[in-house]
Amino acid sequence: MSEERNLNFIEEIVEADLKSGKHASIMTRFPPEPNGYLHIGHAKSICLNFGLAKKYGGKTNLRFDDTNPVTEETEYVESIKDDVRWLGFEWANERYASDYFEQLFEFAILLITKGLAYVDDSSSDEIASQKGTPTHPGVENQYRNRSTEENLKLFNEMRDGKYKDGEKVLRAKIDMASPNMHMRDPILYRIKHAHHHRTGDKWCIYPMYDFAHGQSDSIENITHSICTLEFIPHRPLYDWLIEQLGIFPSHQYEFARLNMTYTVMSKRKLLQLVNEEYVSGWDDPRMSTISGMRRRGYTADAIRDFCERIGVAKRDNLIDVGLLEFFVREHLNKIALRRMVVFDPLKVVITNYTQEHELLPSENNPEDPEAGHRDIHFGKDIYIEREDFMEVPPKKYFRLAPGQMVRLKNAYIIQCNEVIKDAAGNITELHCTYIPESKSGADTSGMHVKGTLHWVSVAHAIKAEVRLYDRLFKVEDVGNAEGDFKDHINANSLHVVQNALAEPALQNDPPDARYQFLRKGYYILDRDSTKDKLVFNRTVTLKDTWAKEVKKNN
Ligand code: ATP
Ligand code: MG
Repeated sequence: MSEERNLNFIEEIVEADLKSGKHASIMTRFPPEPNGYLHIGHAKSICLNFGLAKKYGGKTNLRFDDTNPVTEETEYVESIKDDVRWLGFEWANERYASDYFEQLFEFAILLITKGLAYVDDSSSDEIASQKGTPTHPGVENQYRNRSTEENLKLFNEMRDGKYKDGEKVLRAKIDMASPNMHMRDPILYRIKHAHHHRTGDKWCIYPMYDFAHGQSDSIENITHSICTLEFIPHRPLYDWLIEQLGIFPSHQYEFARLNMTYTVMSKRKLLQLVNEEYVSGWDDPRMSTISGMRRRGYTADAIRDFCERIGVAKRDNLIDVGLLEFFVREHLNKIALRRMVVFDPLKVVITNYTQEHELLPSENNPEDPEAGHRDIHFGKDIYIEREDFMEVPPKKYFRLAPGQMVRLKNAYIIQCNEVIKDAAGNITELHCTYIPESKSGADTSGMHVKGTLHWVSVAHAIKAEVRLYDRLFKVEDVGNAEGDFKDHINANSLHVVQNALAEPALQNDPPDARYQFLRKGYYILDRDSTKDKLVFNRTVTLKDTWAKEVKKNN
């Protein structure tokens, strides 16, 4: 949405910093760990970081936080780059925390030299038990007072591979009695004999998040390092390390992470859904991943508008997925090509139609005159939706019924005269007559009917499979629902229509075209399509309960 909004609290900080001259220009970064595909929560962070730089003439780095060799993969790096670009952003520099391993090692040496870090031989259990609790101070162990020389020697030996995983760690020497648990001599380095996706086997010690993150920010001169609220207690350590090392004073600012109804948004959980085959992959159209949403037909514009609309909060909240769907509909209504597809065909024979067939020009999108038109084939035999006919209709049923009239979209008014059934009593065909003077766009019949149906020509229809998606979870707040999150999976989140029949124009549209199947919702072609059968994903239904809400609040 383009309307002017109040500044969010981060924009206020940035404007103040620019005005006071604290920074001549701003530098932000988006720092994903390449251990999974990005989700809509990451999109929020991307829009915020890249959006700020764009708005204030700064720059944004894409930095892979690849300090954990075990879970990270190149496949994830590539998918993250694709997703950021698809969202419409370009980074100033592509960086990796692993680019800084040598520099980070030097920083660690500097801390040891200043008497601010030590090698600890305790096991992880011992370290945990010595740490105390939020209400009880921790205890200092015998390794804490090792000499600088000994620490330097041991730390270099750690690097050289002399010790096994878990045998030693490097810790900052801060305050074992600090009320902030993160300041009780946090671990800076651990030993991990593991292959890294970029540095290979060069390193067997890896920096912890807290040691890598702030220092990487500082190396890149990041002015505003934006992260989510759970990092508030890490901030004193972030500041302490930068101060002790005397490096560029990056600052951390925290905002509320995005949570959305009927979905999960942690990579760990999304990975479980993939590995345990609840979904077909990271880009399954039901996933909260950016790649899933893309495959489902969501547009980058809609996602950006959504992120702008929800703003930047300081408190955690749960956003209704219906709001995201509202922005998807808003955009698709403007760009989607209108097409007709019958999901459950019922044949209609127009008994008084004497021509073979004719071509009826029909607008591609009444919202967009530039979208042009296509010609639809109309003939004696057509299909309508089985659910659009009732032999014994209730009152106010405006679709087709014996003796009743409806308009066929972009074509003629027809009237049903006869219902044909097979031996078992199933309706196999309807016999109708059409009103030649009622042609859409040139209607001189003077007749008015209430119902308009979509249809396709029997002779020209092409086969299609249509995948209808529902929410992946049955409960609103999956994160806070009882039991395991997988207990709440909606077993009916995918319904496949195998034998839909579609107008042939769908064969010739560009593969990324967005569609509105009339009366059926918004759709996009799926990559599972073959020469013989097109496959479509339903992006979102037509129904919209959010439109009123959003307009009211604007
Ligand atoms: P997850 O818990 O889903 O694995 P993460 O925070 O571990 O996410 P990172 O790759 O470390 O994922 O995150 C990259 C950036 O995206 C971080 O700055 C993080 O704060 C931000 N981010 C992650 N999830 C959300 C969210 N739900 N809302 C807003 N920002 C998020
Ligand atoms: Mg993380």
